[in-house]
Amino acid sequence: MQISPAQLSLVNEQVQRLVSSGNLFGRRLQEAGVTEVRTPADFAALPFSEEQDLRDAYPLGLAAVPEREIVRIHSSSGTTGTPVIIPYTAKDVDDWAEQFRRCYETAGITADDRIQITPGYGLWTAGIGFQAGAERLGAMCIPMGPGNTEKQLQFMIDMGTTVLGATSSYALLLAEEIERRGIRDQLRLKKGVIGSERWGEKMRARIKDELGIKIYDIYGLTEVYGPGIGISCDAECGMHYWDDYLYIEIVDPETGEPVPDGEFGEIVITTLVKEGAPLIRFRTHDISRILPGECPCGSPFPRVDAIGGRSDDMMKIKGVNVFPRQIEEILQEFPQLSSEYQIRISHLEGRDTMRIYVETDGTQDFLDLAEQVAERVKHRIGFTPLVKVVELGVLPRSEKKTRRVFDERYD
Ligand code: ZN
Repeated sequence: MQISPAQLSLVNEQVQRLVSSGNLFGRRLQEAGVTEVRTPADFAALPFSEEQDLRDAYPLGLAAVPEREIVRIHSSSGTTGTPVIIPYTAKDVDDWAEQFRRCYETAGITADDRIQITPGYGLWTAGIGFQAGAERLGAMCIPMGPGNTEKQLQFMIDMGTTVLGATSSYALLLAEEIERRGIRDQLRLKKGVIGSERWGEKMRARIKDELGIKIYDIYGLTEVYGPGIGISCDAECGMHYWDDYLYIEIVDPETGEPVPDGEFGEIVITTLVKEGAPLIRFRTHDISRILPGECPCGSPFPRVDAIGGRSDDMMKIKGVNVFPRQIEEILQEFPQLSSEYQIRISHLEGRDTMRIYVETDGTQDFLDLAEQVAERVKHRIGFTPLVKVVELGVLPRSEKKTRRVFDERYD
């Protein structure tokens, strides 16, 4: 999605703010000779920023305002080593609450709702983000935080909770517990705002069915405010994001070149109005695509597709970038296939080969089916895989994260 003139002028202000603050990114922009951003070409020439840059700035090297303007910090969990510290000004905190309020509004949640918030509070951005947005909306918050299932369910009944804010794994745990205790009819739960982890359609369906609620996926990352920068709507086709706060571009994770709307790549975010820690072209490593055109729900805000994994999952086959989600989408078009699949990439006789294992109920000849799937992949992605059809139940399953892609080229 081409950057608009209004967004360009905001980026220019962010760049000026960074340069005059002399923070890590300001110095880098100065070294790169960037003085202003007026055109899409100026924007495309701006350097990317990475998670590692944020670590290098520990503890407060990201601050782009005088210290007395910082009212809060958050920290991303980080897998190893130095954490990332993000400083927020009062306006940043306010802007984040407004974005989260919009998320609730998009999900049809109002001041009459009672929102039980189960993600964690503290350095993590989750709980407090859910709460600030709910208060801005005027809904009643029930700030539980995670854990203590007994008390969660008691409050859910006694307080007449109508909306559950949770991670997908905790929502599933609660759903199963509600089912086990047979207390569904004592609950007033209508909606779930579910965030942060990547989750399959199956898990989503289970939470939805067991709780009998509508589910909205929330998007966000600590580096860019936190959860609340985007949410799915009733049309359930992608997530709207707030393009007056963020500019999102999708790039080829390998070359860094922007890809056309509708094509998969890595989400790169530029903050447009952030004060405490503005980020220019921050590489999220989340894989998605811009969904072109208007959403059936009528929202004027643009959309990205549900997050389809991490850029580390990208496979390059015969010069074509492929993401597991693309294969998954094609397989979903065949009702006679189960949701299990496995992709194996190998290097045979000097050529890259992709084998896709799929399972079927046996209503169609295996060879016919294999040929149809291979043709569809060829048509959509541009190369012909070897498709192996097996009987239902043959592929391995796991309750947690089933590994589906095996790259055997370098084993
Ligand atoms: Zn929509």
